[in-house]
Amino acid sequence: MPGCSTQGKIQAIWNGIWNLQVPHKVKHMIWRATHNALPTLCNLGRRNVVSCVRCWSCKSESEDTVHALWKCSSLFVLWEPDGVLKKLLRYNVSSFADLWMMVLDNRHCLDVNLLAIIFWMIWSRRNSVRLGEAAIEIRKIRQQARLFLSRFPRSPGSETSLPKGSAGLGIVIRDGSGGVVGAMTERVHLPSSPAVVEAMACRRALLFAQELGCVDCSVEGDEEVIINSIVAREVLNPEYGQVIQDVLTLAAGFQFCNFSLVKRIGNTVAHFLARKAVSGHELQVWTDSLPADIAPLVTRDTL
Ligand SMILES: [Zn+2]
Repeated sequence: MPGCSTQGKIQAIWNGIWNLQVPHKVKHMIWRATHNALPTLCNLGRRNVVSCVRCWSCKSESEDTVHALWKCSSLFVLWEPDGVLKKLLRYNVSSFADLWMMVLDNRHCLDVNLLAIIFWMIWSRRNSVRLGEAAIEIRKIRQQARLFLSRFPRSPGSETSLPKGSAGLGIVIRDGSGGVVGAMTERVHLPSSPAVVEAMACRRALLFAQELGCVDCSVEGDEEVIINSIVAREVLNPEYGQVIQDVLTLAAGFQFCNFSLVKRIGNTVAHFLARKAVSGHELQVWTDSLPADIAPLVTRDTL
């Protein structure tokens, strides 16, 4: 990871992203930014995809990740009204990972969730502008990000943090009428991104369905990148390609198996189970009765 020299720092960055209370797509974008994996003009220039790497907004500096999301003068209108961000702007950071660490160090006086959404909106806007699509005005991003955050359902138990370097998989198996047949949680250690966690959850869900003797299977997940990759049978991604290959192999063992994207709000039980992985056991499985604290959520998800 650029700008990261110690395992502790990688863990801090990972935990800082995983514990965000924002949609997966925002976590995924922040994770890619910290790994210098966004297709900025500098990154495209390195691969000879573009010849000019000058930022389209300010037309004066090269567009690397830090510039695109933070240092471009066109973005100052977003940072200057906030005393803390204005102060952070004075520091020179060499990578987005360093910027993210600085943000985490100041989380006592910053809304990190809001800032993550702002970064995501800046990047989405930048892509829309490049494609010639209608784009939000930069000065309106903060207000829109607040609105976006206020509408995002925070999962029950979200105040709890996972042990360092861990993520939880939460899986619910339902029958055709929505009744729960089985549920499980599993803790995984130091996955490299939220997308990897979702891919692992899909693989575990198919194994669990197989163990329960299911013959047909409809898998619902809320990480668009992963569901799309499975549907398109894309197995080349260096992070999760192998896991997707496993998912496809397992899927072939069912008479019928399909994959679809659901909104997080329709996936409350799975998310609560994922958070429940914090409670000590590496693996917990329920097949005939559900734990009392998730039973009420089951009805909510099927509504
Ligand atoms: Zn610029």
